Amino acid sequence: LSGYSLLRDPHHNKGLAFTHSERDAHYLRGLLPPTVVSQELQVKKMMHNIRQYQVPLQKYMSMMDLQERNERLFYKMLIDNVEELLPIVYTPTVGEACQKYGSIFMRPQGLYISLKEKGKILEVLRNWPEKNIQVIVVTDGERILGLGDLGCQGMGIPVGKLSLYTALGGIRPSASEMVFSLATCMDVLKVITGSFFYCPHGVSKLNNIFTMCLPVTIDVGTNNEKLLNDEFYIGLRQKRATGQEYAELIHEFMTAVKQNYGEKVLVQFEDFANHNAFDLLARYGSTHLVFNDDIQGTASVVLAGLVAALKAVGGTLSDHTFLFLGAGEAGTGIAELIALEISKQTNAPLEETRKNIWLVDSKGLIVSSRKESLQHFKKPWAHEHEPVKELVDAVKDIKPTVLIGTSGVGRTFTREVVEAMASFNEKPIILSLSNPTSQSECTAEEAYTWSQGRAIFASGSPFPPVEYEGKVYVPGQSNNAYIFPGFGLGLIMSGTIRVHDDLLLAASEALASQVTQEHFEKGLIYPPFTNIRKISARIAANVAAKAYELGLATRLPQPKDLVKYAESCMYTPAYRSYRNYQQIKKQ
Ligand code: NAP
Ligand code: MN
Repeated sequence: LSGYSLLRDPHHNKGLAFTHSERDAHYLRGLLPPTVVSQELQVKKMMHNIRQYQVPLQKYMSMMDLQERNERLFYKMLIDNVEELLPIVYTPTVGEACQKYGSIFMRPQGLYISLKEKGKILEVLRNWPEKNIQVIVVTDGERILGLGDLGCQGMGIPVGKLSLYTALGGIRPSASEMVFSLATCMDVLKVITGSFFYCPHGVSKLNNIFTMCLPVTIDVGTNNEKLLNDEFYIGLRQKRATGQEYAELIHEFMTAVKQNYGEKVLVQFEDFANHNAFDLLARYGSTHLVFNDDIQGTASVVLAGLVAALKAVGGTLSDHTFLFLGAGEAGTGIAELIALEISKQTNAPLEETRKNIWLVDSKGLIVSSRKESLQHFKKPWAHEHEPVKELVDAVKDIKPTVLIGTSGVGRTFTREVVEAMASFNEKPIILSLSNPTSQSECTAEEAYTWSQGRAIFASGSPFPPVEYEGKVYVPGQSNNAYIFPGFGLGLIMSGTIRVHDDLLLAASEALASQVTQEHFEKGLIYPPFTNIRKISARIAANVAAKAYELGLATRLPQPKDLVKYAESCMYTPAYRSYRNYQQIKKQ
């Protein structure tokens, strides 16, 4: 690398943090002003800059720009300011970014696979500079957050999810940065303790303990008229392909992925519409390491929050009655995991444990008289009951202790609904999971005010603390970002080959165990994101332990201390010092 291209390579660039000896060794003299600063000062400066922007989307663009310029600084900033920056790189701002992705698009941050690439997907994968991919997040853009079909512009979601894999779960973003530097925990490397050198031969067999990420958007068209007519739209200008044409493209992708990256590449499906999501999971669940975050990740996170909430409310899961608004991926996914957990706790069959769980969809309460016309994932929830059209009537009839919003429609937990919940529950549990903020079933303020401060509330997108009658309530964020980074780390560090429901339960249990008395006192049912890397390591360890127990893990022997091992595998974004390869050889 010449000095000039070094400055333009986001995996290696350190900007003003290059030391004088590095500037000498790597032909950087004169390309930088004379000051040398620390990474901490760079973070401080960038945070100062970002706080000047009033518009969240400008903050988002400034972060994306930094990611393209100096990857380690991007991650250092994100990790050190996670509570402040998560709403920028993730929900809610990422939603707006997707809606406007065509106008703000600068450089491709992931792979675009459209119908035009049919028959050539393997070649397309080989165009991507990283060869050793271990985590893929893929969307087809049909159900982006609660914003609907955003077509090709859904790319913001896999990009955002993968930056959380790295920031929150310590999954290495890219391998090419290691060509320049060798990394941490390997004994062989201790010879060159604390420093790194340019190694033109790459890292060969060491590669397999490091994981790299690939964001993918599959573009089969969009049914969003607004985008089809938008001159800045970046995707295929056609209605969505469906049926066989759709299935064939996906199948070619899934086959190529396995062929190119091997058996153990983790494919996370994200924001597919439910008429494809369940089928894809079922179809590829037995041949690939696949995970649907909207169905499975969400379920694991919500179960953890409920288990934690029960410490404040009392009773066991089987003592509670659950009502969902929204019976799609998130709703039925959560419902099924709750039923499974109750069935494990009580030894009752699933058919029994499902009976305390009710769901409402766009046509009203799901009841047995509707069974014939229901999609397959709703059928297990069609219990005996007369038809009920409105949510508020279902609430009054069923008298749930827990109300969960997974409809993607904002403002559906009305005053009447929350007041009804508060009328027969001392501490109603109310979760408004729909994203982004505009689609939240109610705001934190509404939940606390309408329940006279009694609700235990969490939401998918963050809300600021609320003051009600002199007391401050801190709403928790019930978002799958708590689970998937640690879950993925656990799968990868153990070489797990298939996802199993018990792994979701293990992740959930690890998360719930991180909620302390101090958190409850503030009204939180999740630990704050500030400690998320520690939490992710524990989730990873618990998931890996379960995978070894089930015989699904292939990385043998099993490390003795899985938490320590997880921590040792995690990427940290501190700068490495680059020494000259020639100097190292002379030593
Ligand atoms: P989905 O599969 O499309 O399901 C949406 C469900 O809501 C469907 O059952 C739909 O009914 C129902 N619905 C739509 N409008 C309704 C209305 N006005 N009244 C009652 N029900 C209505 O979507 P999903 O994947 O479950 O996601 C739903 C929402 O959850 C999204 O906003 C997403 O952002 C959010 N989510 C949050 C998290 C998190 O971590 N917090 C994770 C995943 C998803 P029909 O079946 O009758 O059409
Ligand atoms: Mn999602």
